Amino acid sequence: LLYNQVQDLKGNIRVYCRVRPFISNQMDGKSTVDYIGENGNIMVVNPHKQGKEARRIFSFNKVFGVNASQREIFDDTQQLIRSILDGYNVCIFAYGQTGSGKTYTMSGPDIQTEDSWGVNYRALGDLFKIARSRADVITYEISVQMIEIYNEQVRDLLVTDGSSKRLDIRNNSQLNGVNIPDASLVSVNCTQDVLDLMKVGHGNRAIGATALNERSSRSHSERVNKSEATGERLKEAQHINKSLSALGDVISALAQKSSHIPYRNSKLTQVLQDALGGNAKTLMFVHINPEVNAYGETISTLKFAERVA
Ligand code: ADP
Repeated sequence: LLYNQVQDLKGNIRVYCRVRPFISNQMDGKSTVDYIGENGNIMVVNPHKQGKEARRIFSFNKVFGVNASQREIFDDTQQLIRSILDGYNVCIFAYGQTGSGKTYTMSGPDIQTEDSWGVNYRALGDLFKIARSRADVITYEISVQMIEIYNEQVRDLLVTDGSSKRLDIRNNSQLNGVNIPDASLVSVNCTQDVLDLMKVGHGNRAIGATALNERSSRSHSERVNKSEATGERLKEAQHINKSLSALGDVISALAQKSSHIPYRNSKLTQVLQDALGGNAKTLMFVHINPEVNAYGETISTLKFAERVA
């Protein structure tokens, strides 16, 4: 209870930080993470400085160290997810540089192994289980939409005929809030139904399968170095940067309880309006890679996240 009260005082955005372990061939690497406190503190060390000056503490709702299991992460997320059943909008998203562990937390490294499942699949299993257990008293309707925002256009990913018409975002606060009326809405009954749909959706992404492998790392969570990109990639990069900074602005305006929240600056923030503001409960998983050569990104990620926490 106390935890919830603290959350309410701070607004509806919680921030969890997760530190990725060193992966095999970097075992001898030094870590930029000095310690992790029980109270949500994390101390990072600047590898290029000495003494007190090199150390900096950041505070979040919770920090998970390299040994945290997928189960532990979910245990601290489950209650939030269940508030969907009480009528809240819940939004969970991952933030952090490429390779810092976002996919690991949200999906997991191997879909075939249930033990390794990330938050998404565990959440689905949990919600379907509860829905079934309450079937005598209440009927929950669970359905899925999957869209992609690509170059500031919203595309339906659950189309079966390969078409990719641009979709409009509507905002009807009286009726159902932000919605994308023309995007496919598919009813689902179990986790497997959702996994099957995700396969369809991934196949329909604008970034084709081969291109996706080549830059599997790229997602909405990384600022793209402009000098690396040309032509289509430059355009794509600029759009990603634009939605990222718009998201940052919205989140910090919400965190400061500002009277104006600038949702309209990007399609991403328009789509997420009801998932971030209003009665929404939002959880941001901030990921850091503790390698020395990632220090610069680590600091900017933590600074961004601290604005929110
Ligand atoms: P991102 O999605 O941020 O680009 P990934 O989730 O793909 O990063 O993680 C990069 C690599 O690190 C992957 O090989 C992944 O399996 C591994 N990894 C990330 N987080 C963990 C973790 N908590 N424990 C073990 N391995 C991890």
